[in-house]
Amino acid sequence: MKVVAATFVKSATEAAHYPPPSLPEVAFLGRSNVGKSSLINSLLGVHGLARTSNTPGRTQLINFFEINGELRFVDLPGYGYARVPQAVREQWRPMIEGYLRHRAALALCVLIVDARLEPQSLDLVMQDWLTATARRFCVVATKSDKLSRSRLAARLTALRRVYGDRVLPYSSLTRAGAELVWETIRSALVD
Ligand code: GDP
Repeated sequence: MKVVAATFVKSATEAAHYPPPSLPEVAFLGRSNVGKSSLINSLLGVHGLARTSNTPGRTQLINFFEINGELRFVDLPGYGYARVPQAVREQWRPMIEGYLRHRAALALCVLIVDARLEPQSLDLVMQDWLTATARRFCVVATKSDKLSRSRLAARLTALRRVYGDRVLPYSSLTRAGAELVWETIRSALVD
């Protein structure tokens, strides 16, 4: 997709503050520091729209971005940062669950994982949860540039054993994989 306009719409913590569900939405979720902001920025070809390298776990907001007046990207707060205070963690769950469970405009979830790592327990919880709620989702394995070609192939095989064929390798550094991720987004929007 050629991105001609990408703008921040608003932040929200609860449904009453979401923008009207007038456009299909693609939600991004993953552990803190997995590379979520970098993925969003590099898919859109803009720097600094989604903030990168925040203090992990501190941004506890759902951020909505509008693209080409056609769709929205929804940046969900990263999970799993151990040093986040309990009180913040308790806010996280209803915020994410409320969005994922009830948002009618949600067309696709993008679960972001680190291409170098074994599936992490919280990612598996999230996968189960997306499956249980019958949400359409893909898995983007990012930071692929940090692996040799053969190592990446081995890691993808291992990840696909767990997540199925929906695993897409990606690098925010080189944008390798961007076309396939966009294709996945496009097909979710037309179905
Ligand atoms: P977030 O907390 O999930 O939004 O993670 P960020 O996007 O802030 O990324 C965390 C760190 O990983 C930053 O230092 C990024 O520059 C780095 N990073 C993210 N994606 C990639 C990638 O695809 N390749 C490489 N080499 N570094 C990445």
